[in-house]
Amino acid sequence: MSRAVLCLVELDNGEIATASKRALAVARSLAVAPSLAAAPSLAADGWPSDGALAAVVFGASGALADSVTADLTRHGVTELWLVSADGLTGYAPVAWARALEQLAPERAATAVIAAATDHGSEVLAHLGALTGLPVAANCVAAAWTGDGTWQLVRHRWAGSLLEEALLEAPCALLTVAADADAGDAAAFSDTVAGDASGLGSPAAAGDAAALDATPPGAGPEVITAAGLPVTTFTASLDEADLRVRATESAEQGGGMSLATARVVIGGGRGVGGPEGFAALEELASLLGGVVGVSRVVTSQGWRPHRQQVGQTGTKISPELYLACGISGAIQHMAGCQSAKHIVAVNTDPDAPIMSRADYAVIGDLNEVIPALVAAIRAASGQVAATKEAAG
Ligand SMILES: Cc1cc2nc3c(=O)[nH]c(=O)nc-3n(C[C@H](O)[C@H](O)[C@H](O)COP(=O)(O)OP(=O)(O)OC[C@H]3O[C@@H](n4cnc5c(N)ncnc54)[C@H](O)[C@@H]3O)c2cc1C
Repeated sequence: MSRAVLCLVELDNGEIATASKRALAVARSLAVAPSLAAAPSLAADGWPSDGALAAVVFGASGALADSVTADLTRHGVTELWLVSADGLTGYAPVAWARALEQLAPERAATAVIAAATDHGSEVLAHLGALTGLPVAANCVAAAWTGDGTWQLVRHRWAGSLLEEALLEAPCALLTVAADADAGDAAAFSDTVAGDASGLGSPAAAGDAAALDATPPGAGPEVITAAGLPVTTFTASLDEADLRVRATESAEQGGGMSLATARVVIGGGRGVGGPEGFAALEELASLLGGVVGVSRVVTSQGWRPHRQQVGQTGTKISPELYLACGISGAIQHMAGCQSAKHIVAVNTDPDAPIMSRADYAVIGDLNEVIPALVAAIRAASGQVAATKEAAG
């Protein structure tokens, strides 16, 4: 067995969450960097480094769809660990961290990486507390420098500032900014790997018996259709580890979360009150998305804080952000600047969001949103009628 970079992978509607794909990009750039051969790990010295990138998935109950394992392979994953435990049915932050604490040394982890989502950040914070290791949050690139430190680039101030930082740790615990650029991670890793080329070849293999040993808790390895080795790992938990666990999901729209949704329909003060969000919910559901809101909306108690987008809310990176009745304050834009396309609906042509939007509709959202909903319904009705006629 070799050393590995572990990456916690979250699923969204049965697919790899977009934020986890970004985490995988940083993890992969770290795993394949030549400099990693000289990095420490949470196992005995002497285990070689061969670019192993281990995806860790919780709650997959036995198997993942072939499409997911194929996608993991495309993202550079070389092995998959499916974690389970007695009493572990859903998200449980301490239990997930406890399982990672057990798996990391057994799999000779040089780094444990997660997306900086609500779950990823919480689990790594607990893992840091359990192991006594420091956690670096919101990284966009990472590399082992060879002189006892990890060199990091990370987001500060909601991504408006990039910080270069050094981390001293025998195993790097990192969260990856939900809007990290995969290209940056690879380029940065190449640069540092080049500097560290004098570090020598991968460490010599240590005791052969130790290298061949199957970690306790690991089941038999199965190879998927995509050629990915999959191993189940049964963590050993006690009651206290499961004391905090999700009993009801805060996710909406068929399992999507605000952080990872491909379409977000935003509502601000211009929506006018809690009842005004029915139309936005309807539009979100038609487009397969979720509703996000400005801080005014949560401060007024119109919607829960978990739906807030912004500096002090969730950072989103959807394909489409339709911002309705939102002025575009800097603290709000800090949370949605990674959206691929921003469309603003606002009565004020001079609202700040107009200068950040790709498209704008100057108008009353009470007219624009129902018209949009009606148009989508009419178009999908036509498609259904055409299919019926054809079939
Ligand atoms: C430390 C700090 C942190 C913060 N963090 C966040 C954060 O995380 N997220 C966040 O959102 N804010 C945050 N804020 C608050 C932020 O500064 C703004 O106050 C807030 O984003 C404004 O919300 P809004 O756009 O809904 O309201 P407003 O600024 O009042 O804008 C309402 C908009 O609706 C338009 N409008 C009104 N009626 C209609 C209609 N019928 N149809 C169409 N348009 C209409 C108006 O023209 C206007 O542009 C933070 C502030 C501070 C100081």
